Amino acid sequence: MRWFVVCLAAIFSPLLALSQTYDVVIQGGRVIDPETGLDAVRNVGIAQGKIRKISAATLDGKRVISAPGLVVAPGFIDLHQHGQDLESQRVKALDGVTTALEMEIGKPDVATFLQAKEGRSLINYGTAASHVAARSLAFGAPMPEGGLLPKSGAATDEPASVDQIEAMKVRLRHELGAGALAIGMGIQYTPGATRWEVIEMFRLAAEHGVPVYTHVRSSGKQEPGSSVESVEEVIGAAAVSGAPLHIVHINSSCASRAPDCLTLVAGARARGLDVTTEAYPYEAGMTYINSALFNPGWQEKFGVTYHDLMLPGSGERLTKERFEELHNASEPHLIVLFSNTMEAVDSVFRNPLVMVASDGDKGHPRNAGTFCRILSRYVRSQRTLTLMDAIRKMTLMPAQMLERSTPSARLKGRLQEGADADVVVFDPQTVSDRSTYDHPMTASVGVQYLLVGGVTLVDKGKLVEGVFPGRAQLGGMKPQ
Ligand SMILES: [Zn+2]
Repeated sequence: MRWFVVCLAAIFSPLLALSQTYDVVIQGGRVIDPETGLDAVRNVGIAQGKIRKISAATLDGKRVISAPGLVVAPGFIDLHQHGQDLESQRVKALDGVTTALEMEIGKPDVATFLQAKEGRSLINYGTAASHVAARSLAFGAPMPEGGLLPKSGAATDEPASVDQIEAMKVRLRHELGAGALAIGMGIQYTPGATRWEVIEMFRLAAEHGVPVYTHVRSSGKQEPGSSVESVEEVIGAAAVSGAPLHIVHINSSCASRAPDCLTLVAGARARGLDVTTEAYPYEAGMTYINSALFNPGWQEKFGVTYHDLMLPGSGERLTKERFEELHNASEPHLIVLFSNTMEAVDSVFRNPLVMVASDGDKGHPRNAGTFCRILSRYVRSQRTLTLMDAIRKMTLMPAQMLERSTPSARLKGRLQEGADADVVVFDPQTVSDRSTYDHPMTASVGVQYLLVGGVTLVDKGKLVEGVFPGRAQLGGMKPQ
């Protein structure tokens, strides 16, 4: 009898496999996977949140999405997204993003952040542990409600004592234990941090096997305080500590010196250091006007004036008086800072070391438009990136960076059997950003479908309401 059952199974199991019905089948699209180099018309079968089958043969699905003429790619991964609110997540989804992480600065309280997001997130989320917040705590200074950066003052501008550095380490260890993916250091926002304090934080990261993501100490054009010196500092800290290093927005931190800064990154990598970097495709930055970035001397350092500062939304350019008023205000105001040229930004993306990350938040068009802008500007208009290269910068490269923090990232950023079903389906002829400095939250167009963990979040170009498929991405120190 047992033999009979085994025989039946042997005969019928290939037939069963053939007749499998997937939850979703994406049919006839141009499937692109940057890791294997696949770029061909295929059918993709998705079930239980995973990509189960990629095949030239017809697949059965409870839902079949017809995708001829559309590109089917891994969902975009944004390592640098400050705006974690639902409104920002809606425009991120329409920009093709399935995972958006706060890795530059890090949320001040990891457990509270993760708790607030659970079951309420459209796309996947996660955060670094915040050095700036740990430092504020060690100095007894409050963080603004819901904010990432403290107002400039003793906690940002003064050197820390040995005990205070120890207190920061205790706090950061706690935050890593709560699920943080890395240590985030906005060194420019804590100018009082000595070289030694920075090295101590890198050592802590190395001890726990996580990377340091950093906004470097200065985006200055002059010595001392140049961007080149600042990039040297963190490469040095990575070298002596062994911690992997990710330098955020090399476009704005290095501006016209970006080619030189990229030479430093390439040199470090050639000598075996684990150093990566990212950029966003806009000439203006955005930050808090009461932060230490605007400590005295900022105009000379960055080569800008009051007129280069703009209040988001209103388009108001600042004067000296208006600057003083906002800089000294206790409540934080975001400010858009025009300090770069699109020519310099465009050249950064041609470098194969540079991945895409938005630095997104409400008030700047990069929040809504970064990823589709890469496809429209560099792939379709300027033709400086191939579709495969652009997709690699937005999927595989950030996933590989995340693998330093969590092995589950090996299932992200890939369109392969067994990978997580985070998938974007877009029209390569029409995909485009629509957000501007005047209308920063206008959603991109051209993303026809977006699946997060196999759940359809964008359907025929429209957001599906009432689904929250986003899941936490947790560092290895948190019990999973
Ligand atoms: Zn930054």
